[in-house]
Amino acid sequence: MHKGIFAAIVVSTSLFLARPAFAWGDEGHELIADIAYGMLTPHAKATANANAMLAEDKDPLTPTDFASRATWADKYRDADDRNLHYQATKQWHFVDIEISAPDINKACFNFPALAPGQLASAGPENDCIANKITEFESELADPKVAARERLMALKFLMHFVGDIHQPLHSSDDHDLGGNCEQVRLSAAGLPMSLHYFWDTGVVEALFRNDQAINPSDTFSNFADRIRQSLTPAEITAWQADTDPKAWAQQSFTIAHTVAYNLPPHAACTLGEKPVEYPVFVLPADYQTAAASAALPQIEAAGVRLAMIINRSFP
Ligand SMILES: [Zn+2]
Repeated sequence: MHKGIFAAIVVSTSLFLARPAFAWGDEGHELIADIAYGMLTPHAKATANANAMLAEDKDPLTPTDFASRATWADKYRDADDRNLHYQATKQWHFVDIEISAPDINKACFNFPALAPGQLASAGPENDCIANKITEFESELADPKVAARERLMALKFLMHFVGDIHQPLHSSDDHDLGGNCEQVRLSAAGLPMSLHYFWDTGVVEALFRNDQAINPSDTFSNFADRIRQSLTPAEITAWQADTDPKAWAQQSFTIAHTVAYNLPPHAACTLGEKPVEYPVFVLPADYQTAAASAALPQIEAAGVRLAMIINRSFP
């Protein structure tokens, strides 16, 4: 059992108040990065590129290995007591496309352009994940960009390509992307936010499914098994969509048809406290449906992260 699976489920209600409390949980990001790492070209792994950039990075916010660096953007956001970094980058982790009136341009503040010479890491706080992925990829692929900025671009990309595939990072139902929904999997289950379930609960469910097939499997090589299960047709299809806007729209569709496919119930909205609403018991088949929908998203995220890094180092 990998660390944190059950310990992480008990979430204090204070965590529900922030948006987002988590990205895919760390395990989800590490899984996606490990899937991607196995698909990098030798050149993209070699000295002049991603691996060397990361190897020289002394930032203490995460361990320095490739998978851990995929969690860096969350740690960076929260590192200064949720002060300046939080304000500057928190909205870059998602795009709140409204379920009731989907409009990605509105959700992305009309995709603001950077001023001439402005670094993507210093771009406007009112921006969204789809635009930031495009901006950071241009920087990573441009050898003329300063090494420090390219390193940040790489670390943001390693995280955001994961986040954008989490359905509740590409949607909103006037509930802070599910952070406002207090849910439990059964009448006796522990309460958590719907957002937390999609960040972490589905990854745990997928790993439990994996262990049910082979009890000796470990989380550390879960990514290898997922990568080896991919068909060339799947990989080709995911690589054919090169625009992060399309990735967000695909993620939104899953949010609409699976994550938010719930009977009517009360939940808080912006400015309200989730603890004042009853905890909603999810339908019996919800976790199974969520896991089935989340696995291809995790696979697509890994394939597309590798695609971005590989084409940045041709
Ligand atoms: Zn995030």
